[in-house]
Amino acid sequence: MLKFFSSKPIHDPIHKQASADEIKNTTCYMCACRCGIRAHLRDGELIYIDGNPEHPLNKGVICAKGSSGIMKQNSPARLTQPLLRKPGSNRGDGEFETISWDRAFELLTNRLEHIRNTDPKKFALFTGRDQMQALTGLFARQFGTPNYAAHGGFCSVNMAAGMIYTIGGSFWEFGGPDLEKAKLFIMIGTAEDHHSNPMKIALSKFKRDGGRFISINPVRTGYSAIADEWIPIKPGTDGALFMALMHELIRQEKYDAPFLKRYSNSAQLVCLDPGPEEGLFLFDPTSDPVNVDLPHNKYIWDEHLQCAMPCFTQGSSPALTGEYVMGAGPHEGKRVAPAFELLRKQVLLTTPEWAAEKTGISAERIRQLAKEMAYAAFDQAFELPIQWTDYWGEEHSSVTGRPLAFHAMRGLSAHSNGFQTTRGLAVLMSLLGTIDRPGGFRHKAPYPRQVPPNVKPPSSENDIKPNTPLAKSPLGWPTCPEDLSLDNDGNPLRIDKAYSWEHPLAGHGLMHNVISNAVKGDPYHIDTLMIFMANMSWNSTMNTVEVREHLNAKNDQGEFKIPFLVVCDAFQSEMVDFADLVLPDTTYLERHDVMSILDRPISEFEGPVDSVRIPVLETLGECKPFQEVLIELASRLKFPAFVNAEGGRKFTNYVDFITNFQTNPNSGIGFLSGWRGKDGDKSLKGEPNPNQWQKYAENNCVHQFHFPLEHQYMRNWNKGYLDFSKENALRQKNDPIMIAVYSDILQKFRLSTTGKRPGATPPEHLKERISKYFDPLPFWYPPLEDEVTDLNRFSFNAVTQRPMAMYHSWDSQNAWLRQIHSHNYLFINSDAAKKQGIADGAWIWIESQWGKVKCMARYSETVDPGTVWTWNAIGKAESAWNLSNDADESKKGFLLNHLITEELPMQNFKVSNSDPITGQAGWYDVRVRVIPAGEDEPKEVWPQFKAHQVPGMIFNKRTK
Ligand code: SF4
Repeated sequence: MLKFFSSKPIHDPIHKQASADEIKNTTCYMCACRCGIRAHLRDGELIYIDGNPEHPLNKGVICAKGSSGIMKQNSPARLTQPLLRKPGSNRGDGEFETISWDRAFELLTNRLEHIRNTDPKKFALFTGRDQMQALTGLFARQFGTPNYAAHGGFCSVNMAAGMIYTIGGSFWEFGGPDLEKAKLFIMIGTAEDHHSNPMKIALSKFKRDGGRFISINPVRTGYSAIADEWIPIKPGTDGALFMALMHELIRQEKYDAPFLKRYSNSAQLVCLDPGPEEGLFLFDPTSDPVNVDLPHNKYIWDEHLQCAMPCFTQGSSPALTGEYVMGAGPHEGKRVAPAFELLRKQVLLTTPEWAAEKTGISAERIRQLAKEMAYAAFDQAFELPIQWTDYWGEEHSSVTGRPLAFHAMRGLSAHSNGFQTTRGLAVLMSLLGTIDRPGGFRHKAPYPRQVPPNVKPPSSENDIKPNTPLAKSPLGWPTCPEDLSLDNDGNPLRIDKAYSWEHPLAGHGLMHNVISNAVKGDPYHIDTLMIFMANMSWNSTMNTVEVREHLNAKNDQGEFKIPFLVVCDAFQSEMVDFADLVLPDTTYLERHDVMSILDRPISEFEGPVDSVRIPVLETLGECKPFQEVLIELASRLKFPAFVNAEGGRKFTNYVDFITNFQTNPNSGIGFLSGWRGKDGDKSLKGEPNPNQWQKYAENNCVHQFHFPLEHQYMRNWNKGYLDFSKENALRQKNDPIMIAVYSDILQKFRLSTTGKRPGATPPEHLKERISKYFDPLPFWYPPLEDEVTDLNRFSFNAVTQRPMAMYHSWDSQNAWLRQIHSHNYLFINSDAAKKQGIADGAWIWIESQWGKVKCMARYSETVDPGTVWTWNAIGKAESAWNLSNDADESKKGFLLNHLITEELPMQNFKVSNSDPITGQAGWYDVRVRVIPAGEDEPKEVWPQFKAHQVPGMIFNKRTK
């Protein structure tokens, strides 16, 4: 039933409201944070949303976005019916006819069935900031296509991969700063996003308790506003700062040597001789490797005995520095050095003076910063009387606290040097001994995991077969060149070229290159591209103008180069116009959903936490949750995991699927960890429980499992925890997770360029690139865009950040949140602006070598003088999101995306404008210049685009 034709005002803030007659719990989805909320209803209508005080994540706290969910529900941009583009119309014209779901399913099933039976990789599924990647990934794998990823490649994969390839965990969902016990908190490269309300709660307590908060960021906004000190830094140079800090700490011998020796690979011996083992660890063939994927049977150099010994030999005294020659045995005569010695040499020249010139932070301040960090980590250290046993059987009576916590996210990530920068941070944190210790960085389940997790992407054409699930997971963690996703000729198996020689460790894919690659047929053409919840013709793409042209591009026969484009979204975003088939999604208040332990749960330091959404409102119009769409398609296409032994449908719907699906027959592991077992008395593992949803509903939509205290720290090496994590499928193995100060995985790729290593070798034109960037030790290099830019002409760095009150492009149709932001400015340091002759509030042109944009400037004292910045995704195409034709969003709001290229021209070829290791989009690498607009130029943003109203939008009146 369409409930929103009411003539009553949606909200009158001064009208005295009668109280709600019903309160229902669910989980917010106004941003990625996933707070617990209470929906207050009267006569079935939503009248108020507040935070759920019983919820472990936000404890009742709610933000402006969360409480404005009511207006998202009442958005004039809601889609309500499946739509099919009218035959003969162009994409982008908004010419649609409404169709039934039956027809939509029939159409899709027929098309996808043919693809699956012939060449499954011709179907590509890419999703935006959805929270069900365990399901979408399962769908893609069962379909048999490698062409699947979520948005991580253009979000923060460098942070995830850089940390996971070093310490086996990462920030935000999988770990974070222990502000409860920290005394010094360094936040670097983080705006107000991702971990939102919990961070605010923790920060306010940290400050009240007297903690010192230093923010290092080009811009002082968001959390930085309450920092005790703001240190401006030039974008893309954080890695140089980390190198200089490591230089200082090592020079002054202010590092946690016992921690490094026992818990990292710092003391393990690396072969220095040229040849197939050059730069790799040497292995002792007489010792047990323990884990054949990542063997542990390496050597250390015993300082007392002056000889090599197997790692972890009882009573040995490992050296961290020096160079040695192996004695009698399988490696006799080989020159070796502990990995730490190589790190020491790597940072010899990265002095504070060296970094000062790059970062804009004085050498003196960098030295002082190193001192402050060492003081917090070592002079303020403490012991917690918690008994635990390490992997090697040694019993410890306490856990050492190092009250120095870091937090970082996209500011480090979204650069083409972000992976090595993140490695730099992770190694710095390790030098200071802060990993999974009180007051430092702490993991959240299911992390820590192996370095890296033992999941590999498809590595041969044989892994992709018609009418067959993919042999491996579409996304994974390569550990050597042989794990790359390449065909027999060495060409990329994936449409986005993830896991190819261009981006070998592309853990989250490269969604930002899919459309361009598919249109060019490079590496091949696809048939159907399904996009869920991603505004790929607008703020989720680089080079917006050209990508919009690509979406409409036709071949010589007049056929679209991407033959079929399916868009699933709840709102009339800019992307909808380009769809052939539009599937109307529900809002988060209208559906079931899980924040799964198999995916990205909301775990706490103390143990796994997962949560659900339960509908609090009826579904609007013909909207259908994307989850249900996937279950329906999977059942119709008869994916093996979705049919029973007789070939019949296994799951009636999404709720049934979540209740009964197990990762393997009788594994006892499913999407939800709470109230498992027939009687609901098991956690994490147990047979399906038909009443599981009910139990979540009765318990604030959340399940929390507390590890015993002795399993809460030092989890990489904590025997009790490691055994528990294997028993409960948080990990596949229970061997220790050694910190990779030195990455032999990266070295294997580097070695592959020399011809010394047997096995796969990169194409000639990429050898230099791999050799340069796959350094086994962290290093800093300028962002790739700098190499092809006239830095004198384009002297400003330009960055964006997500506003506190809006999430991506989602909230411009939200009547309350639009009152906070309806347009954006380019913020520029006032002195820098005056030098350019730019007045506060003036119209200006921003130009990069890739494009230009006209917008308004705003003076700011809280931005580094060499940087300009703006809010992301406020600008809109005219009429998109059902805004009026003259709405501020399209006339005064702008996108910086028009200035960013998705490809960079190298000497003889083009590469993605991304990190050469992970493929993370280099959003924050763009260099620009700013000039005043002419007096006679229209006072309106340029370029301008138009979107179209589509059938089925029930609020035909546009938002003014
Ligand atoms: S922080 Fe995010 S999830 Fe939490 S209330 Fe705000 S919008 Fe909702």
